[in-house]
Amino acid sequence: MFKEFAQGLWITFKHLSPKYRTTVEYPKQRLQPSERFRGLHRLVMQHDREKCVACYLCPTVCPAKCITVESAENEKGEKYPKVYKIDLLRCIFCGYCVEACPVEAIEMTPAYELANYKREDFVFTKERLLK
Ligand code: SF4
Ligand code: SF4
Repeated sequence: MFKEFAQGLWITFKHLSPKYRTTVEYPKQRLQPSERFRGLHRLVMQHDREKCVACYLCPTVCPAKCITVESAENEKGEKYPKVYKIDLLRCIFCGYCVEACPVEAIEMTPAYELANYKREDFVFTKERLLK
């Protein structure tokens, strides 16, 4: 009986040592996500404009149907997304949009601190995704 009690105490005190700590003191400490982590999306810029050519592939493959794209043409006749929005409250972070994009115009970043207070703040517009 005493042996088990001492073993329990040993395990408890062992975890006070930083060597055996299994948690971090968030937000003072932050873990670095792995390279394959799928966090907040980012639209890529190229030559002073978004790389996206508004081909509608990403909203088509998105299983959560949370991407809205509206295309337009600029003065050079190039298609661009007049509207590009992702509703993160519906997104399941599957990464299909990134895989489907033929011009690598959308990426997923390691950003995971996405908490917000208002529903509308979870809708990421083109301007926010380009930042
Ligand atoms: S990660 Fe998946 S669910 Fe989220 S926007 Fe892309 S395709 Fe849709
Ligand atoms: S982000 Fe890529 S897949 Fe989505 S509309 Fe733009 S070019 Fe097409």
